[in-house]
Amino acid sequence: MTIGSRMSAQMISLLAALAVFATVDEAAISGLKHAAAICNPRYECGGVIRAVAGGFEVSGVITSRRPFGVDLAEFYGPDVVADFHTHVCSIHNRVFADFFSPADAIVNQGLHTVGYMLSLCDWNIRRYDPSQDERDDEEVDFRSGRVVYLTTGHIVGWVPDEERTPDWQGAIALVR
Ligand SMILES: [Zn+2]
Repeated sequence: MTIGSRMSAQMISLLAALAVFATVDEAAISGLKHAAAICNPRYECGGVIRAVAGGFEVSGVITSRRPFGVDLAEFYGPDVVADFHTHVCSIHNRVFADFFSPADAIVNQGLHTVGYMLSLCDWNIRRYDPSQDERDDEEVDFRSGRVVYLTTGHIVGWVPDEERTPDWQGAIALVR
C-alpha cells in the first residue's frame, strides 16, 4: 500500500464517522444546530433522523416558509426513528415556543418516533419521547386566563450564540 492510498482510506473513514452518529440525541442535536445556523428564524425548519448501518443519519433541513408547522411527511419512512424542528420566537409565539405543541406530540405518538425541538427563544434543544414523557405535564397560562397543558420534554442540548443564524436575511432558507 502506498502512502497516498492509505491517506484516502483514512479520509473515507473520517467522512463516514462525520455522517453517522452513535446516538439519536447526537444526530438530532447536529440537525438542529444546522437548522439554527442556516434557517430563517421567522420560519419553522426541520428534518428527520434515520437508522442506518452503524448508527443514525440526519436528513437535510427543510422549511415551511411559515411561522408555524413544518411538514416532514416527505422525509418519513420506515427507517425514521426521530424528527426535529425549530420553534420561532415571535411576539405571538413567545409563550409556546419552549413547549412541544399538541400537534407535535400527536405526530410522535402516532408514528412512534422521538421528537426534538429547538426553541429560538431560550435556544434549548428538547426531546419528547412518547414512550417515556407525558404529553401534558406542564401547565401554561395565557393572558386570556385560559390554561392549557403541554410538554417540554427534557433538555438535551443547547445552541450557543456563535452557532446561531448570524443574519437571517442572508441565510439559506431551503436546503435539501
Ligand atoms: Zn412544534
